[in-house]
Amino acid sequence: MMALTPGAADPEDKKIEIVGAGLAGLVCAIVLAKVNRRVVVRERHEDVGHRFRDDFQRLENWTADGNVPDELAEAGVAADFDHFGVTDGVVFDSRATAHRVHGSQPLFYLLRRGNATGTLDRALLDRARAAGVEVRFNDRVKRTAGNMILAGRPRRADLIAVGYVFDTTMADGAWLAFGAEIASKGYAYLLVHQGRGAVASYMFSGFHDQAEYLAATVSYFKRHAGLKMQKPRGFGGFRECPIAAHGDAGWKPGDGRTRGPRGIDYLVGKLGSNDTDVLGQAYRLSLPMRLLLPFARFHYRNPLQDRSCSHNNCNCVWCQHGAHEVADT
Ligand SMILES: Cc1cc2nc3c(=O)[nH]c(=O)nc-3n(C[C@H](O)[C@H](O)[C@H](O)COP(=O)(O)OP(=O)(O)OC[C@H]3O[C@@H](n4cnc5c(N)ncnc54)[C@H](O)[C@@H]3O)c2cc1C
Repeated sequence: MMALTPGAADPEDKKIEIVGAGLAGLVCAIVLAKVNRRVVVRERHEDVGHRFRDDFQRLENWTADGNVPDELAEAGVAADFDHFGVTDGVVFDSRATAHRVHGSQPLFYLLRRGNATGTLDRALLDRARAAGVEVRFNDRVKRTAGNMILAGRPRRADLIAVGYVFDTTMADGAWLAFGAEIASKGYAYLLVHQGRGAVASYMFSGFHDQAEYLAATVSYFKRHAGLKMQKPRGFGGFRECPIAAHGDAGWKPGDGRTRGPRGIDYLVGKLGSNDTDVLGQAYRLSLPMRLLLPFARFHYRNPLQDRSCSHNNCNCVWCQHGAHEVADT
């Protein structure tokens, strides 16, 4: 994160406006306010976390040299939101063989997204306001002017996620699965924590068949993990997941765009022998992989061109044509 020098509060004409009260915008606002910048965050929706319905998300820890919540605290964002470190889980390879995985420290943290108390979004909003940031809701920015930081939205759909959050009587657990029938070039997961769960399919292609992939994912986890859902509520959205220039971000080990089933099964086998460092290694690319990156980036540079979408009253979770609200879910 960029180091900033604390200074006197800026005059009005030097105020910094941040477009978007998502994670990027709020963290940016907190960091700037802490060094006495006058910051206004402008958010088009009426509250934070509008894209989420109290869903679980995972804060990756396996790629960190230290502990991610400690890193966040160092950046001035104490982890005062609900979060829970997951050290154990089950990963199914593409043949549905189960591999138990254990990390000596949390592999990832489960956290909640949305606008409820305890969610990451609400905690960041409270922290930003406590630091003196003004947050304006229902304020859509149509034109850039002055000192403005754009933290508006993912620009394109590299990956879509569709799933359910639900209540359950299942015991806590974390399951991850690969397989062409449950997630096209991606993966599916099931997470359960204290009577609440989330099941989802993350896919890099085949977006139009999202409903079939989700149905297959639910049926898969019923068979292999004893999934029991009560009061399921659907969620979905898209995210940017670029193949980065240096392979130090965005390149996911479970990314089926760049690894075939054999590569994934190899990784999963390693994980099953508790070699969790293999995940970190997948981010620290070897020289041959670095040399291949330009080819991979060229090949995957245009991940979504869905000519089958009419863009007319469609409900595609990835739709980006901008003519209706679904585009901003
Ligand atoms: C279903 C799903 C599951 C995910 N799971 C995970 C996970 O497990 N782990 C993980 O690390 N990541 C996950 N992600 C990705 C993660 O949610 C995003 O990377 C993150 O929320 C992006 O934050 P952001 O601040 O960049 O963008 P956003 O959260 O999109 O925030 C941008 C904000 O800007 C506002 N805005 C846009 N345009 C304007 C405008 N003109 N004027 C005013 N305001 C504007 C929007 O309303 C929005 O509130 C998931 C994403 C989805 C959709």
